[in-house]
Amino acid sequence: MRTVPFFAPDIDENEMDAVTEVLRSGWLTTGPVADRFEREFREYTHARHALAVSSGTAALHLALKALEVGPGDEVITTPMTFCSTVHAILQVGATPVLADIGPDLNVDSDAVAAAITPRTRAVLAVHMAGLPCEMDRLRALGLPVIADAAHAFGAAYKGVPIGGDEADATAFSFYANKTITTAEGGMLTTSSEQLARRGRLLRLHGIERRGSSWRYEVVSDGYKYNLPDVLAAIGVAQLAKAERMRCRRAEIAAAYTEAFRGTEQIDTAPERADTRHAWHLYVLRLNCAISRDEFINELERQGIGCSVHFRPIHMHRWFANKVRMPLGCESAEREFARILSLPLHPLMTDEDVDSVIQAVRCSVERLCCSAASTFS
Ligand SMILES: *Cc1c(COP(=O)(O)O)cnc(C)c1O
Repeated sequence: MRTVPFFAPDIDENEMDAVTEVLRSGWLTTGPVADRFEREFREYTHARHALAVSSGTAALHLALKALEVGPGDEVITTPMTFCSTVHAILQVGATPVLADIGPDLNVDSDAVAAAITPRTRAVLAVHMAGLPCEMDRLRALGLPVIADAAHAFGAAYKGVPIGGDEADATAFSFYANKTITTAEGGMLTTSSEQLARRGRLLRLHGIERRGSSWRYEVVSDGYKYNLPDVLAAIGVAQLAKAERMRCRRAEIAAAYTEAFRGTEQIDTAPERADTRHAWHLYVLRLNCAISRDEFINELERQGIGCSVHFRPIHMHRWFANKVRMPLGCESAEREFARILSLPLHPLMTDEDVDSVIQAVRCSVERLCCSAASTFS
């Protein structure tokens, strides 16, 4: 049986050579290669400032800290995200407020508007699966907007790459399975000189350099969030092939959408005309009275790796009494029951893509078509 893993990283000789070069150079931690990674990242995203950090979670935390969000503040975010989005809000002492999602699985701007109180300090929007949020609508609410772009490197909103002026600050992740990787790593981008300056201080112990390396002064609180050159080297090599990887992901997603468009038992992944999707994930949605878990089991029996993004935040017991949810999150709960993520990575061959399509079709036939009824 042909098996297709849910994910495999696209690492070749270039990454290996780049890492070896750093290891031989005698300088392992943050230095010239991290600088170069930041510079080339700015060129790709058109960001004014880019701060390389040790993870996407660190970038989110720095963004909130740099905006001086803290105890007593509320931050409105989505229930349909990875736990780290909400951990970061709790980490600065603020209260996460969940606003429900829209049909594109992104936070719904009307739900955000309805959740605003006098304590609301910021909106933390997630570009779910790599599909940019309706940033103009979120910006129109008049609050600072932080974007969790962990899925969205390579995406564009109204013709402009994500990471620019569409948000006050944008946090990227280079975790092993994201659209580009450094194994672990992240980037904070912003157009604000002030946020960038605060972010740089907080990134490394609150230290301000005064000329030579031993001459420094601690001028604020701070963290240990720098990205070492060993990892930045992987990022530089990934950036060099980012366009090729992005195009391959888009090709695979288009093949899925084309193949499943006419099948009423499943809904294809959401897209929008004014945006370029990064296609970190392809989220298929079942439209028939069969359990998503059974559907995944059936795909896995056929050798296809699947996952679910995400179980809504408030359905994790840890968060239940830590988040506010003034208007409920029914759409997120309803979508959670019917979503699954298909394999989507640049090393997939056309045969892999066909295997996934055939397995989905076969599972629909076996499970959905024998189910008594479809729900609408
Ligand atoms: C991966 C991810 C993060 C965290 O990124 P790390 O680099 O693993 O810290 C944050 N938000 C979302 C939506 C993610 O998928």
